[in-house]
Amino acid sequence: MTTQKGKIDIQTENIFPIIKKFLYSDHEIFLRELVSNAVDATQKLKTLSSMGKVKDELGDLTIHVEIDKKNKTLTVRDRGIGMTSEEVDKYINQIAFSSAEEFVKKFKTKSEAEQNAIIGHFGLGFYSAFMVSDKVVINTKTYKKGGSTKAVRWECDGSPEYTMDASDKKDRGTDITLYISEENKEFLEDYRVEELLKKYCKFLPVPIQFGMETIFEPVEGEKDKDGNPKTREVKRPKIINNPEPLWKKSPAEAKEEEYKTFYRELYPMSFEEPLFHIHLNVDYPFNLTGILYFPKAKKDYELQRNKIQLYSNQVFITDSVEGIVPEFLTLLHGVIDSPDIPLNVSRSYLQSDQNVKKISGYITRKVADKLSEIFKADRKNFEEKWDDIKVFIEYGMISEPKFYDKAEKFALLKNTDGKYFTLEEYKKEIEKTQKDKDKKLIYLYATNVDEQYAYIQNAKERGYDVLLLDGVLDPHFINTLEQKLTDSSFARVDSNTIDKLIVKEEEAPSKLDDKQKEKIKEAFERNIDKKQFEVSFENLSESEMPVTITQNEFMRRMKDMEAIGGSPMMGMGSLPDTFNLIINANNKLINKIPEIEDEKKADELVRQIYDLARLSKNLLKGKELDEFVKRSVKLVN
Ligand code: ADP
Repeated sequence: MTTQKGKIDIQTENIFPIIKKFLYSDHEIFLRELVSNAVDATQKLKTLSSMGKVKDELGDLTIHVEIDKKNKTLTVRDRGIGMTSEEVDKYINQIAFSSAEEFVKKFKTKSEAEQNAIIGHFGLGFYSAFMVSDKVVINTKTYKKGGSTKAVRWECDGSPEYTMDASDKKDRGTDITLYISEENKEFLEDYRVEELLKKYCKFLPVPIQFGMETIFEPVEGEKDKDGNPKTREVKRPKIINNPEPLWKKSPAEAKEEEYKTFYRELYPMSFEEPLFHIHLNVDYPFNLTGILYFPKAKKDYELQRNKIQLYSNQVFITDSVEGIVPEFLTLLHGVIDSPDIPLNVSRSYLQSDQNVKKISGYITRKVADKLSEIFKADRKNFEEKWDDIKVFIEYGMISEPKFYDKAEKFALLKNTDGKYFTLEEYKKEIEKTQKDKDKKLIYLYATNVDEQYAYIQNAKERGYDVLLLDGVLDPHFINTLEQKLTDSSFARVDSNTIDKLIVKEEEAPSKLDDKQKEKIKEAFERNIDKKQFEVSFENLSESEMPVTITQNEFMRRMKDMEAIGGSPMMGMGSLPDTFNLIINANNKLINKIPEIEDEKKADELVRQIYDLARLSKNLLKGKELDEFVKRSVKLVN
């Protein structure tokens, strides 16, 4: 063949400078593009061979990635189908170029944020090589026999002109050699190339070799002087990838231990074992495989996202999967592999894509089914793991109605004694003590067993159960449950006196008349902070505390929301911390107050009662606490 010079058919403008400049931010993906092309060429050869269309032995199909520091080149070499000169002309000069051109055109009209979102997902293909090279050479020989099947050498220096020559390449397959440009010389460093291969090519289906590695191999039958097996140093090709990752196996064939090993392969830096896994495997109506792991939640739980890796036919695409899987699932770890997830589109499009919606629905359903299965098969095990998976399940129930519908059967509530109930079991449990069918069921709960100790004890003494809802998502979870469980509401144990929270048929009579009450009220109002406390009376039993401080459930929830920055009153100034000061009309100390003639003496008693109540609610601090202590010492003297 004589040297053929040609000009790549450019429709609009020279895209090479654009490839180099505009796409600079994510130029590392060139390696993924070239290695995936090599994998494709190898897979195609295997397919043709299985159809009896390849004459030669296939031989070793390992793909090689090589760095030549002296000549400043990086080569990707495969033993796949190769190309004839007509094919190079058609695929490289025409098709690949026009699709690269198309891509660049689309790319230029996007905002910067969108550019960043798509570049990593949708590569430029072969032409991405020019992001990092001064010159690219293709040296290829087709698997076909006879006719125009001689080897070809194509060369292009990043201008629209290329040359095509005959080549003396003997072996079938394609070498793509990049003459790495000065500003991209990082891609001539072994560590950098290895890092990229591990990131993008770790699970590609054809073995990829990058350099050699040294291992220590036991020598059979020989022992050293300490009696340990003797080892010898062996150099062997370093294979970067695992061509048969576990998610490609059928779930029936994979063993429990393999899932754990694979988790370590995915997250070598993680020392925790996952709690359990879900193996995804569908081929209709879309193609999807993968393994999701429930990670062990850390004590100081921070919601860690972006641990799921997304692959398309074993090529790593991204580890930010928002929009593809429901928000709550981004807390899981693992891999999802699907050629059906469109990658060349923006996120907003992804979210409205029907295929993506189906995939997302499928994953949600599978996750719920698996949890339900574990719950049914081994409730004890499920309860033991509950505290670790609770945040995830609550998140799902809050944000995905479909997940709620499945999860309501296995979601657990834990009470302050550490006992677990399903929603249905708990409803039955509290119906035993709240028999009035016409009234709302009240779910009493605590958020802190130490701070609310007295209130919890008080409720329990009356036979009422108290839930422990101390998780980060519990305030939202409570809202969700209140919407779903009709005729029920949640009340924190200290939001009112128990008798007001769970209203009894008849109220106990009061030992005080209105005049006495008035006198007591005046005494209190002389001594308390009236902006913070509102005084009221209740006819509690004699043995109960003289004064109880409660905080209205609604007001407290508003304050809690304000604290996490989601208050509906945002911008209207901070909400005041207001409390109810409930005086027990039947308590002996209280009953004494109207009889005390000396106002100073009455005030001293009221002050003491008031401070004790505040102390038990952790509201007494600083100077006032100091005064209380000194007064108490005086009183016991
Ligand atoms: P895509 O891979 O998306 O088709 P590319 O621009 O990466 O686009 O490649 C264009 C075409 O060039 C490929 O479809 C293939 O026909 C051919 N090609 C690229 N690399 C190789 C290779 N290593 N071996 C054989 N053919 C190749």
